[in-house]
Amino acid sequence: MASSLRAYCTACRFKGTALFGAFRFVIESGNSQCFVPAIHKATGKLEGIDIYDSTKKQEEYSFYTDPSMYEGEIIPMQTRTIDCFDQKIKIEHNRCPNCNQYNMFFIPEITFD
Ligand SMILES: [Zn+2]
Repeated sequence: MASSLRAYCTACRFKGTALFGAFRFVIESGNSQCFVPAIHKATGKLEGIDIYDSTKKQEEYSFYTDPSMYEGEIIPMQTRTIDCFDQKIKIEHNRCPNCNQYNMFFIPEITFD
């Protein structure tokens, strides 16, 4: 399942969108896919990047699954997360690409099969 996430920072009012998850037809065809919200290090742009896409230079991105991209720990059954297989991102306290405060939310907006 893939979702379009709406990103919103309560500190600077930054808004963005990013894809998260995997499309069922890709998984059912035997391929790996998992889009994760990420910041392109050079441009600061928020994107959804498939962590299995070998055409993307993964080292050019900071992924929101990385603990440096959110504040606090992810505690099972306590922290509110959005999950896709073993990839988890936090709904709140994410680092904003605009102001670098940990005040950005990810809200699932549209879900695709
Ligand atoms: Zn911000």
